[in-house]
Amino acid sequence: MLKLHGIESRYGAIQALFGVDLRVDQGGATALLGRNGMGKTTTIRAIFGLTPPDAGVIELAGRDLRGLPPFRIARLGIGLVPEGRRCFARLTVDENLAATARPGPFDRAFVRRLFPRLAERAGQSAGTLSGGEQQMLAIGRALTTNPRLLVLDEATEGLAPTIRAEIWAALDRLKREGLSLLVVDKSLQDLLPLADRLAVLEKGRSVWHGAPHEWTPELRDRFLGV
Ligand code: ATP
Repeated sequence: MLKLHGIESRYGAIQALFGVDLRVDQGGATALLGRNGMGKTTTIRAIFGLTPPDAGVIELAGRDLRGLPPFRIARLGIGLVPEGRRCFARLTVDENLAATARPGPFDRAFVRRLFPRLAERAGQSAGTLSGGEQQMLAIGRALTTNPRLLVLDEATEGLAPTIRAEIWAALDRLKREGLSLLVVDKSLQDLLPLADRLAVLEKGRSVWHGAPHEWTPELRDRFLGV
C-alpha cells in the first residue's frame, strides 16, 4: 500500500531525515517507533508533501507521490490524524465529519457506531469537547474522507486510560475492516498487538525493521530506552 525508500528531508538548512525506509502492507498496520526527535513526525510530513523530501521514493499503491501537493496526496487515499488533534473548533461534531467527507463505507453512521460518544454530541461544537472526544473526532474526520491508508501521529498522547482503550479498540476494528494503518505512538503495549510490522528510526534513519514477534526487551532498551 505504502512504500518509502531512502527518504531525506530538511527544514531549511537543517537535515532531519537521512534515509527512511518504510512499508505498510495492504490491510496491514505498521508502527513507526523511535525516541523523541528521531524523525517520526517529519516522516509523516514527508508522506503528505508537507515537508517534501529531497531524495528517496514514496509510493502509494505503486503511484509516485513526490512533488504532489498535500491535498492531492490526501485525495489519493491517505487520511491524516495529526499530532494535536486539530478539529474545526467552531463547527459541530456532525459538521466536522461532513466537512471533508467523500463517499465510501466510512460515513457518519459508521463513525457514530465506532465512537458512540460522538453520536451523543452530534450538535455540540468541537471546541467544547473533551480532549479524548476531540481525538475521536479527529479520527472520525480523517475516516470520512474514506482513505485507503490512515496515518495517526500520537493519537493517544495525554488521554485518560479508558479513552485510550476506546481508541485502540477502534483502530483494531478499522484494521479488521481492511483499512491499512501507519501508527506513531509511545504505547508499545498497545502497538504490539495491532501492528504486523515495526519500523524504528534513530536520528532520522531507519535502523531496524521486523515483525512484533521479533521485538525483544534488548531492542526496546537500545532504541527506545532513555
Ligand atoms: P517527537 O516524538 O518528539 O514528536 P519525532 O520523532 O516526531 O519526535 P520530529 O518531530 O520528526 O521527531 O523531529 C525530527 C528532527 O527534526 C528533530 O531534530 C527536530 O528538532 C527537527 N525539527 C522538527 N521540526 C522542525 C522545524 N519546524 N524546524 C527545524 N527543525 C525541526
